[in-house]
This record gives sequence, structure tokens and C-alpha cells, in this order.
Amino acid sequence: MAYEPKQIERKWQAVWAEEGTWEVANPGRPGYEDSKPKSYVLEMLPYPSGEPHVGHLKCYAVGDAIAHFRRRHGFEVIHPMGYDSFGLPAENNAIKTGEPPREATERSIASFRRQFGEWGISIDWSRELATHTPEYYRWTQWIFLRLFEKGLAYRTVAPVQWCPEDATVLANEQVVDGRCERCGTEVVQRSLEQWFFKITDYADRLLADFDRLESWPEHVITMQRNWIGRSEGAEVVFRCEEAGLDFPVFTTRPDTLFGATFFVLAPEHPELERLVAGTEAEGAVRSYVDRVARESASERGAEDRAKTGVPLGRSVVNPVNGEEIPVYVADYVLMEYGTGAIMAVPAHDARDYEFARKFDLPVQRVIEGTDPEAARDPRGLPYAGDGQMTNSGRFDGRGNREAYAEIVSWLEEEGRGEPAVNFRLRDWLVSRQRYWGAPIPVVYCEACGEEGVPAIVPVPDEQLPVELPEIEDYAPQGRSPLAAAEEWVATECPRCGGPARRETDTMDTFVDSSWYFIRYLDPRNSEAAWDRAAADHWLPVDQYIGGVEHAILHLMYARFFTKALADLGALDVQEPFANLFAQGMITRDGAKMSKSRGNTVSPGEYVERYGADTARTYVCFMGPPERGGDWTDEGVEGVNRFLSRLWRLCEEVEAGTEPGGDAAGAEGEARELLAKAHWAVDKATRDFRRGFQFNTVIAAVMELVNDAYRLKDGLFGTQGGEAVLRFATATAASLIFPFAPHLGAEVYERLTGERVWEQPWPEADPELLASDTVTLVVQVNGKLRDRIEAPAEAGKEELLALARGSEKVARHLDGKDVVKEIVVPGKLVNLVVR
Ligand SMILES: [Zn+2]
Ligand SMILES: [Zn+2]
Repeated sequence: MAYEPKQIERKWQAVWAEEGTWEVANPGRPGYEDSKPKSYVLEMLPYPSGEPHVGHLKCYAVGDAIAHFRRRHGFEVIHPMGYDSFGLPAENNAIKTGEPPREATERSIASFRRQFGEWGISIDWSRELATHTPEYYRWTQWIFLRLFEKGLAYRTVAPVQWCPEDATVLANEQVVDGRCERCGTEVVQRSLEQWFFKITDYADRLLADFDRLESWPEHVITMQRNWIGRSEGAEVVFRCEEAGLDFPVFTTRPDTLFGATFFVLAPEHPELERLVAGTEAEGAVRSYVDRVARESASERGAEDRAKTGVPLGRSVVNPVNGEEIPVYVADYVLMEYGTGAIMAVPAHDARDYEFARKFDLPVQRVIEGTDPEAARDPRGLPYAGDGQMTNSGRFDGRGNREAYAEIVSWLEEEGRGEPAVNFRLRDWLVSRQRYWGAPIPVVYCEACGEEGVPAIVPVPDEQLPVELPEIEDYAPQGRSPLAAAEEWVATECPRCGGPARRETDTMDTFVDSSWYFIRYLDPRNSEAAWDRAAADHWLPVDQYIGGVEHAILHLMYARFFTKALADLGALDVQEPFANLFAQGMITRDGAKMSKSRGNTVSPGEYVERYGADTARTYVCFMGPPERGGDWTDEGVEGVNRFLSRLWRLCEEVEAGTEPGGDAAGAEGEARELLAKAHWAVDKATRDFRRGFQFNTVIAAVMELVNDAYRLKDGLFGTQGGEAVLRFATATAASLIFPFAPHLGAEVYERLTGERVWEQPWPEADPELLASDTVTLVVQVNGKLRDRIEAPAEAGKEELLALARGSEKVARHLDGKDVVKEIVVPGKLVNLVVR
């Protein structure tokens, strides 16, 4: 019979579904196995939009292999699945087609669920969740309220990144090179009242706790470290006497303070108004600020851009030397970094230097350096290198690096500044002016407010969830589409009972995915977000698997949530993901896959044509999983041929051998195959553990199958040979099971009568691995009679004994005299008889 994957796959999928094979119970519940250590294996949950793509196939095939490997090493493995089902694509589709986001989302979820079943992923379906259901987002809202109580969720006016296309604000992490991460539109700055999470309170812990992680890819840690962007320096105050205002400045270069010759404010600086109100500069400054407001962040950030700015007609005092220096507003200073104001040191900073040349401002050198690499123009300016300090009062003649700490302590003693740490990380902007998200659970009440400012009143826990109402028009108009749902918006104040209005912004979907891995542990709990004992038992996630594109967004937000929830007493861990595996991207025929190129791979088509086992094994075989790989149809066919060969081998071995034979004492080719099987076990196990090198694990099984196929005809009907054939074929099935679970289960059951997933992972016999063997050719009167595996180091007598011991050889010696023995060590024994 030919290999019919569909038949085999359906059969086993039905068994696993009926028996709930992959379901695990929580401690204290029936079915819980307390003798086993736990292992939480988790792939990032999919965003359900349309059909699963090949990246999904890879992520879940890799995660599933790990889950199976751990189960067969005696772990109680929890391996759940859910859907990150709020978000913009469903809403944008709704705007285009009028189809409610819920319908499109749920249709897509059904498709993902069906395909996960068809791929044979070993999911504990009893724990399935979707973040758009009220049963889930009730607890997202509950967490929001806990953060609000702790002051970790707050509302304020701030300059924010606005995507004109999506008509919503974005978190800084969602802006890539000045463009919207989602749609690629250039982002503009706006000043708006928004909700934030105070992730900056956790900046130091987010950095320090990299030490708590067991194994994360170094490049992911580096990306987070850079994003958090901790820098040490000093905060120095420049005072404007006329206006009576202090301007603190953060600098990483206090050694250049004496060279500050002017001062620059960001156009968004909150004190700008007060500085220019009623002055001659007011008009010019206003129009400049208005113009900047229409610029994109990427335009403003461009290095080579001509500098622009407007003098304010004011000056501030440089605290180190008492000099009055003029103040400008310029767009090259960003409000997001430091305090939104800088001391400009044109002699030692390229952008300040260009500005000084354009506006004809003095350039004061304070570091004499000789490093030619560090200078740009013939005058040696601006100079970015190290050297001797000059024009710096008491510090003249000192090396700038050496004097650094001394300058900071001098500033502190003199009350002119203090040591300071600055972070690039900003608070996480979480409100969105969109419909398809979890409503923010607060109301605004005029009566409870003061001086015409309505009070923010949290919705009491017992009134959660604040359910998303059904609406007709999803089109964004610069405010949340929810604002049009008048009946929903108008509500009662939980504090005073008077009329109040609901918050109409919804939460960033990254909020939903920042805690889903905890909800899996107790997904049907309607009394609490999770049972503390269940969370304590299963957390942290022992192995997390997902794409590297989440290095900053999801992976950092989830770390922040875990720490905040631990501080609230709701969790006992500080880090959610002990080990992280970041899978590489798959290309096709050498090119990046994209819908516009029309070269995407639909896993569904390949599963239909070749079966899930082929598709899964192929994505794990195409290259080291962390590096990705290139999808080719020839590659898929190659893997399909390998699985077909294993299938045919199983058919022949099952028909041609009897079960229950003993492989011990196998000789010759039987021993060769037995050793190969143990070699494959050893190689597969080591490569699995060595960073999931699945491509070489699978290659080892291929070698084993090839050898069994090559040697089988010589082994049928031989004593020991049949048992070895069965053993080798069953071992191949056992080792390929994590990748091709259906075929693995089928072959293994046929040859052993056992269920492979209930069997421990095979162990290699060190005796069969230890010594190097050679194949000894044994001749009688110059004719080949046998090949024997012999220890490489065996001497003449041992080789002769082995040769005489062979059954095939013995037949030709019967009743005859051996007159000569020719031995070529490591190669040949020839017995001359008469
Ligand atoms: Zn956008
Ligand atoms: Zn009220």
C-alpha cells in the first residue's frame, strides 16, 4: 500500500481529540500528575486574520516538537492555544466591507482552529481562549483598574505619535523609522490627552532582570537594552532670570559644559508659551511651532537635514561659568529625549555645530584633541573625541574622561547640578481611538470633578466587563467610533449616581497579549483572573517560541506586566519567559514572501497535497530553526519521499518479520544497523538539546531510514536481523514523531503495539556507540562469505575468532582443514581450506 497521509492523519487526530490526549489538569484537580515535573511550552498566540500562513506553521511545528520531546522526558507539559483577536486589520476590513469585526475575526479563528487540528499540533484545547471575548477582556479591564489604583495607569496631555491613515495614536514602539508599524504611513506628532502605563517606573528592573533569564537570544536582549536606553550623566539647571524660569537639562557630557554657547528648546516644550508670550518673538515662534507640528518625526530626526530654528530673544545662565547664552527653539531637539531642552556645545556636537554656523553663534572649544577620526572639518571641529580640557576653569589641563566624575560631584557641591540617569524608554501609550479593542473601564463625571474638570471614576469590579457595544459605522474620525454610540456612552456615575460619560477610547491590543499566558493557567475562572496556586505552579513559561519581530513590543510589555502584577501580589514570578527561542523568517525560492509578490506559501495547500507530517517536517528541516530557511517545492518533495520511504519500510518489516525477536547478539549487517539506530538516537537527542537543531535531528533519522532500507533484504529471514529491522524502523518512527506525529504514531504502533507518545524518549546504548568499528571482509578461498563489524583496534587473533564465529563462514569450513590464515587488520580475513 502507498503512503496515504490523509488517512493516517485523520485517524490519529480523531484519537487525540476523543481522548483529550494533550489536556493536563491543574494541581488538586482530577488527572493531575504530581509525580512529574512541570514544563510550560508556549508559542506566541496568533493574530487571527484570514488564514494561517507559513510563519504560523513553522512557529507551531517548532513548539510542538519541543512539547513532545519534553513529554517523553517525563514532564507534565502544558501546551495551550488562543487568539490575539482584537486589533486593526479586522476593523479596517469592517470599514471597507461593512462586515462587523467580530464576524470576520470569529471566522478566522474557526479556520485557525481547524488547521491546527489538521496539522496535528498537540494542543490542550480545554484551555483555549480569545482576547476579544467578554470573558477574557473583563480581566484585561480588571488589570487596568489595578494599575490605575497603583498610579501605573494615568491620563495626561502629551505629545504623541499619530498615524493619519489609521486615525489613531501609536505607542513609540509601534513607530518604525518614523512610520506606522502597521500601515507604513509617516507618523505626525500631536498633543493629545491619552492613557499611559508607567513602564518607565520599571526601567531599571527591566534591565537588571535580564540576569534572571535562563536563556534568551543575545540579540533580543540587546534590542531591549537599547530600547530602554539607560544613560548616565548629570542634570544641570539653566535659569532664565527675566522670566523667572528654571530649565533642567540632562547631559551625558558634563565635561563639555563650559563650551555651551547657546540653548535650545523643543517646539513642544511646555514652557515655550510663557517664555515668548507678549514678546517681539511671539509671532515668529508661533508660526515656527505650527510648521513643525506638520512635520513627521522621521523628517525631524534626519541627520543631514538643514537646521532651522527661531531665536526667542531670551537668555539663560550657564551655571558653570555664569555666562548668559541665547535661547532658541529648533526642531532638531525632541521632547521625547531628556527634558526637551539642551545646552548646545557646537565645538563638540555635530548638530549643534551646524546650527551655530547657520545662525552665526560662537563656537567655544573646551577639549583639545588629536584624534583625527573624531574631527570633521579642517579646523578640527566639531571634535567628538577625548583630550585635554581647556577654557574650563579649574578643570583646565585635565583629561576629559578622568575629570568626568569630579565635574559631576563639583556641580553637586556647588548646587548647580546633580548626577542623573536618563532613559530612552517612554511610558507606554495604551489608548486607541478605535473600536475593536477592550474598552477602558472608567467614566467621566462632572459632578464628582472640580473646577469644570470632570473626575475620572473607575468602573467598580462587579460591573465588569464594560462590554463593547455593537455599532454601525467603524470609520475613524479622529475620535473613537465608540463616541457615536450615544446610549452606551451616557451612563451613571458609580460614585455619585449622577449622569456620567464613558471613556470611548479602547486599549492597545498589546495590553491583551501582555497577560494571556497567565489566563491559560485558569481559563474558565469567572471569579478571578486566575487562581493564584495554578499560576504559581505553572509559571514561568519554561520555553517561549515566537518571531524576533516581537523583541521590543510584546516581549517587553509582558515583562513589565509580570513585574507589576507581582508587585500587586498577584504573581510569584518576576519574569514571564525563562527561555526564549526566536525563530527565523522563511523565504521562498530566495525571495521574501509577500502578498504583493504573490509568492506566499499557504500551508493549507501543502497539507492537502502532501499531508501535515510532510509540511511540518519540512519547515523544521529547511535550516536551523533560529535562522529561518528558504521554502522550495523540491525541498518539500524530498521530505515527502523520506516519509514515504519510512512508510514502505514499515510495511515490509511488518509483513516480513515477527514481533518479539531479540536483537541482542546481532552480527554483521544486523549489528551495523543496530549501531546505526543507536547512533541516530544519540545524535538526535544531542542536537535537539543543543538549541533545537531540528534540521540535523531529522537528517539523522533520514540516515537511519536509508540504512535500514539498504540493508533490509539481507536481514529478512536471519536470526537477530529481523529483530534489528523492527527495532531500527520503530526507532526511526519514535525519533520522527515530534515532527511527523501521525506517521510516527502509526509506524510505531504497527511494529510495537504501543503508543509512541506514552513511551519514554529512546536512549542510546553507550556500548554500541563507544568503540569505532570497521567492516571486516571475510573470505573462504578468496570468495566473499560475510561482512562483520569488528572493533577497529582488534588484533589478528580476535579477528580470526570473529571470522570463524560467523555462521555464514562456518558453513564453508565444515569438515575441512584450514591450511592458511591471511589477515589484513582492519580490512580482511581470508581462510584457505582444503
Ligand atoms: Zn497606520
Ligand atoms: Zn459622580
